[in-house]
Amino acid sequence: MSTLFVRTLREDPADAEVPSHRLLVRAGYVRRAAPGIYSWLPLGLRVVRRIENIIREEMDAMGAQELLFPALLPKEPYDASGRWTSYGDGIFRLKDRKGNDLLLGPTHEEMFTLAVKDMYSSYKDLPVLLYQIQTKYRDEPRPRAGVLRGREFVMKDAYSFDVDDAGLEVSYQAFRDAYVRIFDRLGFDYVIVKAHSGAMGGSASEEFLAKAAVGEDTYVHCTTCDYAANVEAVTVSPPAAVAYDGLPAAHVEETPDTPTIETLVDHANAAHPRTDGRDWRASDTLKNIVFSVRYPDGRSEAIAFGVPGDRDVDVARVEAFLGEGAVFEPYSEEEFAAQPSLAKGYIGPGALGADEPAGIRYLLDPRVAEGTAWVTGADEPGRHVFDLVAGRDFTGDGVVEVADVRDGDPCPVDGDEGGVLVSARGIEMGHIFALGRLYAEALGLQVLDENGKLVTVTMGSYGIGPTRAVAAIAENTLDDLGLCWPRNVAPADIHVVATGKDEAVFAAAEELVRELHAAGVEVLYDDRPKVSPGVKFKDAELIGVPTIVTVGRGLAEGVVELRDRASDERSQVPVAEAAAHLVSLVLR
Ligand code: ATP
Ligand code: MG
Repeated sequence: MSTLFVRTLREDPADAEVPSHRLLVRAGYVRRAAPGIYSWLPLGLRVVRRIENIIREEMDAMGAQELLFPALLPKEPYDASGRWTSYGDGIFRLKDRKGNDLLLGPTHEEMFTLAVKDMYSSYKDLPVLLYQIQTKYRDEPRPRAGVLRGREFVMKDAYSFDVDDAGLEVSYQAFRDAYVRIFDRLGFDYVIVKAHSGAMGGSASEEFLAKAAVGEDTYVHCTTCDYAANVEAVTVSPPAAVAYDGLPAAHVEETPDTPTIETLVDHANAAHPRTDGRDWRASDTLKNIVFSVRYPDGRSEAIAFGVPGDRDVDVARVEAFLGEGAVFEPYSEEEFAAQPSLAKGYIGPGALGADEPAGIRYLLDPRVAEGTAWVTGADEPGRHVFDLVAGRDFTGDGVVEVADVRDGDPCPVDGDEGGVLVSARGIEMGHIFALGRLYAEALGLQVLDENGKLVTVTMGSYGIGPTRAVAAIAENTLDDLGLCWPRNVAPADIHVVATGKDEAVFAAAEELVRELHAAGVEVLYDDRPKVSPGVKFKDAELIGVPTIVTVGRGLAEGVVELRDRASDERSQVPVAEAAAHLVSLVLR
């Protein structure tokens, strides 16, 4: 500690939004260089390296081969895949001195695909599993929480190449198994959830999330079965279509001053009570919300989402639906003004749909199933239409999953047997994805199959973010005193603190450190001669090495004190046995 390049801080950095960020800065793990761009100091770098090594060992063990592509890339492959455009403002683009376009790689599907295309041509070459651990660049719209969401960050990205779907399934499962081993070894609390397959249109897709209240991802899990999914990926089981033969005809009613669902429900109950005796509820109404959307390729459109009135449109679900790089906003006053067929606050299916004058694509929540009856806008101020039946009186241009998912919603798997969803928050640390043939098709990756026929290769992509993992694990494990690392990723195995002024104390501590080193244990040794025990303990708590050994007063009785950082359990061990005891703790 007397020579280590570190300065711990007692004060929180002003820009830190989440506890892990505060502590990683205060404990001297990272330093901010610019928004979303961080330097790694020795302690932090050791954690990154340990995480990378666990990942590397498991990748190698499953037969994936490590290689390294450049971060500075030519534009052409990204043009071919369409991502030069579709990534929108998310990529850093630059020009060389000759005016050629280059980019800093945000992810490398294209480069891997092209390398396999250049080098392989037969089914006999496949499957092949490749990976790299490499620095990526993304101009994130909201860099956040230090290294949690950086604009420069490290990613392990792996890719599988198979000749057919059955092969992809095997590769996907092999990566999933390796990920489970990696995350188990990292030693903290995580969940595996179904993920949105996105615009890439693949099939299987799962995320590995660190449980953390500050996480940006919301996931749900079922109370009775093992279903768990990112909210972006939750699909509502649509109610079965019901016959509408006996239903009353739709009728328009005066509903003055009812532009919100709440006012509408109150008015309906007062002025147009239901005939079946129950009250009108927000879930009986159909709310139509118009957004204007701009896509990264310059296209734009207005889209109306029709959702039950008791639900909001969930921004994360809209983002997942629209795809990477799309930006969207609620329809503005000016946009409404330019569309006289839309009565703001009273918009109904009558004015929506690609064929209507406003030309607005109209997408409906799955709950708006055929035969369901709704109260919704009549496209005139102060009027709503009642008993408007889906499939009889209106249809949408498609179905969309953007309504919010709530605690207590039925589980899509066993909702019929009473399974309900509960939500929690997490940080995405890994993502495995059966991509399919999208990139191989775009970039022409084909091989000859057993019958000498050209077939398009099918791919998977598998990412983990080691630098994000540092923050996510910190967030998941920290406590009031500081960082609190799981043993396998801590910057050192043992933190030895020598206290007092006594020469003998330092001599005994040094001897212990030597023995530990000789046994292959990594030690952070606080040898600072003129620093008070209080300061040394505070630093040890902040830095968060899992076992703290104090060599001090107890030496007179021949003992050192061991403290487990996480549980705060303390015990005394005879000096002579200390090294062996600690070695067994660390290397077990
Ligand atoms: P997010 O939804 O959080 O932006 P993503 O879906 O863009 O993540 P992927 O493209 O699947 O992430 O990248 C694989 C892994 O790389 C992620 O699981 C995460 O661990 C890491 N990662 C992605 N973006 C960042 C970032 N901005 N900073 C740090 N790590 C990141
Ligand atoms: Mg992202």
